[in-house]
Amino acid sequence: MEKGDAPNDSAPPYPGPPMNYGMTAPPPVAYQGVPAASVTPVTHMVVTPALQGIPGQTVCPHCSQTVITTTDHTVGLMTWAICGGLTILGCFLCCCIPFCVDSCKDVEHSCPSCQKVIYVYKRL
Ligand SMILES: [Zn+2]
Repeated sequence: MEKGDAPNDSAPPYPGPPMNYGMTAPPPVAYQGVPAASVTPVTHMVVTPALQGIPGQTVCPHCSQTVITTTDHTVGLMTWAICGGLTILGCFLCCCIPFCVDSCKDVEHSCPSCQKVIYVYKRL
């Protein structure tokens, strides 16, 4: 048997240009997702409103009466912070001053009716 098949010269030796896949851009995704309603229910407790350094009107949680609180100044973190700061600065004598200054202390609001502490206003 003789091979008489001539090589087909018309066939290119290389496989040819790669097929051009139609580069069709993906259609824009029309995402019409409705954003989840981020309305969280406000579940805040009945907190005494804005009692600070001065007596204020509030509803006593103990006896449920509307009272004007009586304030008492107690040594708090702010007092110690100022004391420590003065000590660091070398004022060993004046480091006791914040213990005598009411504006450096926490304020304890108590009920004049039942004498219970309603709220402690911390300055720090
Ligand atoms: Zn009370």
